[in-house]
Amino acid sequence: MLSIQDLQVAYGGIQAVKGVSMEVYEGELVTLIGANGAGKTTTLKAVMGLLPFKKGDILFRGRSIKTMPTWDRVKQGLVMVPEGRGVFARMTIVENLQMGAYLHDSKADFERGVDYAFTTFPRLKERAHQLAGTMSGGEQQMLAMARALMTQPKLLILDEPSMGLSPVLTETIFQVIDKVSKEGMTVVLVEQNANLALQAADRGYVMDSGNMLMTGPADMLLQDPKVQEAYLGA
Ligand code: ATP
Repeated sequence: MLSIQDLQVAYGGIQAVKGVSMEVYEGELVTLIGANGAGKTTTLKAVMGLLPFKKGDILFRGRSIKTMPTWDRVKQGLVMVPEGRGVFARMTIVENLQMGAYLHDSKADFERGVDYAFTTFPRLKERAHQLAGTMSGGEQQMLAMARALMTQPKLLILDEPSMGLSPVLTETIFQVIDKVSKEGMTVVLVEQNANLALQAADRGYVMDSGNMLMTGPADMLLQDPKVQEAYLGA
């Protein structure tokens, strides 16, 4: 579904991603792990068209999206929940969900989406008319995910969904990731919490200093001594 081929991204003279390749097949949950500054977010931003890149290519559903604007990528079903959530702070929960549904003008689709969001995250239903900026970090993460799901993505990319969350809220978020994945959505998950991410994923990729270090089935990476030492705190 997604093919990143020899991607290179630089910020001025700083080469943040140095020729990275990655494949994501339909229905998979793939995690991308690595230390701070490894280049994970930079890779995702390039996939979404938020950062230009000079070398390499990105294919979505078999087609190069290198020159496709971000809004069109979203329209094609490539959707990201960014690090830091990016909710519209001065809008209510329902208004944020409306923003997520802007690509679908059918009222029935919108209502189905809101129903799904409220069933998945009952907390959002209780707070439907609260301003998003006044919600807790965990609630904002739920909202960011719910807003992304309103677009009915084919591939959902999550950048550090557990960042700053309590263990209980982290568990809630991971239950939802598991749910959408089991329902058939393809998911790419970037996580600092490599343990949790590898337990949830089918396959994993490990990045280090702008390079792809290794890849394999998630359970194999969990058992790998190098991964355990560097990323699992063993
Ligand atoms: P983290 O887990 O800490 O979020 P990451 O793996 O997502 O890290 P990136 O955010 O992609 O890493 O950063 C990769 C490298 O690019 C880092 O060295 C970072 O300092 C650098 N970088 C990121 N954004 C910029 C920017 N706007 N300008 C210059 N350098 C940047």
